Amino acid sequence: MASRYHQGGNVLSITVANVTKRFGTFTALDDVSLEISAGRLVALLGPSGSGKTTLLRIIAGLEFAESGAIRFDGQDISDRAAGERRVGFVFQHYALFRHMTVFENVAFGLRVRPRGERPTRQQIRDRVGDLLDLIQLRSQAGRYPSQLSGGQRQRVALARALAVEPRVLLLDEPFGALDAKVRQELRRWLRQLHDDVGVTSVFVTHDQEEALEVADQVAVMNQGRIVQVGTPDEVYNHPANSFVYNFLGNVNLFHGRVDNGMTYINQDATGDLIFARPHALEITRNANGPNHFRATTKHINAAGPLVKIEVITEWGAPVHIEMAQERFRDLALNKGEEVYIIPRDLAIFEATHGDFTPSR
Ligand code: ADP
Ligand code: MG
Repeated sequence: MASRYHQGGNVLSITVANVTKRFGTFTALDDVSLEISAGRLVALLGPSGSGKTTLLRIIAGLEFAESGAIRFDGQDISDRAAGERRVGFVFQHYALFRHMTVFENVAFGLRVRPRGERPTRQQIRDRVGDLLDLIQLRSQAGRYPSQLSGGQRQRVALARALAVEPRVLLLDEPFGALDAKVRQELRRWLRQLHDDVGVTSVFVTHDQEEALEVADQVAVMNQGRIVQVGTPDEVYNHPANSFVYNFLGNVNLFHGRVDNGMTYINQDATGDLIFARPHALEITRNANGPNHFRATTKHINAAGPLVKIEVITEWGAPVHIEMAQERFRDLALNKGEEVYIIPRDLAIFEATHGDFTPSR
């Protein structure tokens, strides 16, 4: 792919320092700090309402904080307007100009530059051509947005954002309106594009799979705070608390307690939190060892790379389990069967100061 757009020396770092933002009496961001190294692709991941868009808009200069600072390469730009920050923006519904062709949409940001800074017609043609190569849509240059698929339109929106060589690229759920298969393709494509272009990027999503697949670093947000920052591997395998563990993948929640290294699962809702991911629970027909409980199979869905099974425990709770097709065939499992469940890997979180933190 064309590396003509690699930003080289133009790449900068972003610092968010102790940013607090209120809407009336509501605190949307509560003392948020985040360091984004030059050239990184960072995901802001959290549930709806956790403050992701607000943080992105403050980085862009579309919203201003009550306290704290935003720095680009160490320089405080907190009071600068959006237009002075040179950020590229892509939203979920970044409406392209409907009456303009793909080419004109991408060229727009260059054509509206003040006369002294505006590239020549030939320079614009070359740069837009390069960008259309980058998003693999050169053959569609003369088309109108209504003639493109949703995924193609978002690629054009990205090219339009990149045309003015932004110092920072901000993406707010850019693939949120697209169907699952297109989303997955565009994820990989964005990752590749980011590696080619090299511009420091912040990507907002509420989809944990998307964040874990696309980003170098993931900042997990909850209720206006960043609760953990790390590589996808770090946040997935070493969650800082029960919220992160829960948010980053499917889980079964049990209650119980740990005593002398033994885990006792029960229905007592006052003990520790015990989580098990669906693939970490094994179904067997024989109870071997002390760690098991009984259950009855309720639903079996064998369509997919993993077989998904819902069982009802002896105390009446639904539990979701996933296993390889091969194991499922060996077991020859039927609906309504009595089985034993053996937890292979439990994540235990102790109640500490109103929060649940790992006990391992
Ligand atoms: P997210 O993008 O994570 O879904 P937002 O940053 O959009 O969350 O919003 C965080 C919280 O701030 C939400 O509870 C939202 O209702 C509130 N909020 C956002 N913008 C405004 C606003 N302009 N006025 C009042 N409340 C707002
Ligand atoms: Mg949002």
